[in-house]
Amino acid sequence: MIEITTLDNSQVSVDDATLQEFESAVRGEVLTAEHSGYDEARVIFNGMIDRRPGLIARCTGVADVMQCVNFAREHRLLTAVRGGGHGVAGSAVCDGGLMIDLSQMNAVDVNPQARVARVQGGTALGGVDHETHPFGLAAPAGVVSTTGAAGLTTGGGYGWLRGKHGMSIDNLLAVEMVTPDGEFRRASDTENTDLFWAVRGGGGNFGVVTMFEFRLHEIPPMLMLCSPMYAAEHAREVLHGWRAFMETAPDEFTTEFFFWTIPEHPNFPEEFHGQHVVSPAGVYLGPAEEGEKFVQPLRELAPTLLDLSGPQRFVDIQRMFDPYLPYGEILSYWKALYMDELSDEMIDTLIEVFHSRPAVVCPFVLHDLRGASQRVPEDSTAFFGRHWSYLMEFNSSWRDPSETDSVVAWTRQVWNDMRQRYSQDGGGYLNMTNYDEDGEALVQETYKEHYRRLQQIKNKYDPMNLFRMNPNILPKA
Ligand SMILES: Cc1cc2nc3c(=O)[nH]c(=O)nc-3n(C[C@H](O)[C@H](O)[C@H](O)COP(=O)(O)OP(=O)(O)OC[C@H]3O[C@@H](n4cnc5c(N)ncnc54)[C@H](O)[C@@H]3O)c2cc1C
Repeated sequence: MIEITTLDNSQVSVDDATLQEFESAVRGEVLTAEHSGYDEARVIFNGMIDRRPGLIARCTGVADVMQCVNFAREHRLLTAVRGGGHGVAGSAVCDGGLMIDLSQMNAVDVNPQARVARVQGGTALGGVDHETHPFGLAAPAGVVSTTGAAGLTTGGGYGWLRGKHGMSIDNLLAVEMVTPDGEFRRASDTENTDLFWAVRGGGGNFGVVTMFEFRLHEIPPMLMLCSPMYAAEHAREVLHGWRAFMETAPDEFTTEFFFWTIPEHPNFPEEFHGQHVVSPAGVYLGPAEEGEKFVQPLRELAPTLLDLSGPQRFVDIQRMFDPYLPYGEILSYWKALYMDELSDEMIDTLIEVFHSRPAVVCPFVLHDLRGASQRVPEDSTAFFGRHWSYLMEFNSSWRDPSETDSVVAWTRQVWNDMRQRYSQDGGGYLNMTNYDEDGEALVQETYKEHYRRLQQIKNKYDPMNLFRMNPNILPKA
């Protein structure tokens, strides 16, 4: 017999016969704390999260997911869904409840003629790129290959193809999912359209997505990566230069401005380790020679410390941050903020904030969001925030647990200050946010007028709020 945590945080006893029945109904492994592999399976990206599920079910296919959802609903179990395990809030793993682990469901099937990829719900972005690249195609997604397609897409999805092709949700043609009633449903522009609207931005609130169908785009064999690094003392002139450059930049160029500290990693010469830098990074989606000419001014904004710019294959660009983001080792506390503009005063504030960072590696990244995703009508998907021009992410990351309190306090304070000063309505990108402590208020504030519709759809598909380990849309009583 084992005790499992329920939705109301009490314990339910599951007797041996019931557990055995569940284990034999699921083709993948079902792990309890007694099994080898349990500790490995509960590790997620954020090393700050150390939760111990009562049961971990490592699903191998849709049938397993249906068994898990039915088991969870019938016993009213606290339920977490793990895609790629990158959610910094740690919602992929729960304490005491059932963790539905999709990490083994990572098949990708590309139809090069139709330019469509079918991607299973536990696939990491590297798996998608691996299968699409040989066909000269790509799906718009994030910039780190170990991130899960599922959490990223259901929450929005920003990456290097965004300027020209929009967010991941803008390229989603359909999903297949197991809804809380245990039913398998397909949702698209013509089937279960309410669910399709909700799942494009509404996160994991509506069930477990077992398959995503993405529209793919042609990618040149080599793309120009812009990655000059300037010493932090040049931050002001470089930020001003980047802002001016972007005023006339075409959709082909997607850019993220990094405030970073060069890690102690053999990829960088030792003399640069620990140096604080700023970098107007970006990718030009077009012929590499054209891109090289285009980004040249961004490489001459001040004397560079290092310049990693150059033509690269898209799959390699997608992996370039991986070495500095080892899974489960870095403690992460992230906050994000949308902004309308980047004023001179904001630039000065960002530089002050950069210099005030605690003695840890706390990068932050400023995205210029202009381009295709801004032109998609706001109400066409549940995602809210297309009208913003900038997204600021504070990706506080450290390794020493004794620094946790000071880093978290610093990040919260900086985020709150900037929110009050520069954000018209406090919205942020939930996918890049430790949202738990801010509760429903932050979720409502983020979805704004979409929240009521999301609540109606939640009421229809998940009235018991089985899927609550996410930026939670509360069903109405
Ligand atoms: C290093 C790093 C880099 C990142 N880079 C980017 C980036 O470039 N662009 C960007 O937009 N975001 C980025 N993110 C944020 C990322 O989008 C979110 O962390 C997202 O939640 C990751 O998805 P996942 O499947 O890996 O997460 P998980 O932690 O596995 O899941 C997070 C939540 O998503 C939901 N979920 C997961 N799988 C499913 C499923 N199959 N069906 C239904 N719901 C599911 C669940 O609610 C779950 O709690 C990054 C995050 C990290 C840590």
